[in-house]
This record gives sequence, structure tokens and C-alpha cells, in this order.
Amino acid sequence: MPIKRFGSTLISRGQFDGYLALLKGAHRSDNLDAVMCRDLISVDWQGHVHDCDFNQMLGLPLGDSDKPVHLRDLLTVDLERRNIRVADHCYGCTAGQGSSCGGALSG
Ligand code: SF4
Repeated sequence: MPIKRFGSTLISRGQFDGYLALLKGAHRSDNLDAVMCRDLISVDWQGHVHDCDFNQMLGLPLGDSDKPVHLRDLLTVDLERRNIRVADHCYGCTAGQGSSCGGALSG
């Protein structure tokens, strides 16, 4: 996943754009139904909620919120119908056989 330390390493070596192009070129729409953010959320130690661990590491709030979302904000929210915040790093989940905390998404 081209974020944080790995992303910084790619940038410092001038390889970030090439790596991202590789991921985009390997995108498979079949993986979209199985990406982990469709079924899971990520909660940090302070109770702030994110669409996934990667978005948490990037400080991206849940869904399309423009401010941090806390667990207490979700008491009346239907998470099944939430928007998921996506960005270029998401190609790391949809490229090739797909990727998740549990490994490949497809065989
Ligand atoms: S990086 Fe993107 S596609 Fe992957 S789990 Fe997070 S939000 Fe979903």
C-alpha cells in the first residue's frame, strides 16, 4: 500500500508514480465487492472511526465527513449505507487478486 513509510520510500526513490500506475493498470473491478471497507470499519484508540486501517493511518475521517467521526456519533447512523472515502491508495486493494487484512480477495 503506497502510504506512509512505504509511500515515502517510493517518493524518495522517484518510484511513486510508476508504482501507482502499476496498481492502476492492474485494477480489477471484480474486487470492489470484496474490499474490506464494505464490511468493516476501523476505530483508533481514541474512538475515532475510519473506513479502514489505511484511511486511519492517513487521518481520513469516515465516509464523506469533513471532520473526525467518533463512535458516539454513530449511534443513529446506518453504516450499511455509508459512503466510503476512496483515493488513489485504494488501488492497492483492487489490483490483481485484491488485498485485505485477510490476504488476497480472489483466487
Ligand atoms: S484503502 Fe480504500 S479500498 Fe482499501 S479498504 Fe481502505 S477505503 Fe477500502
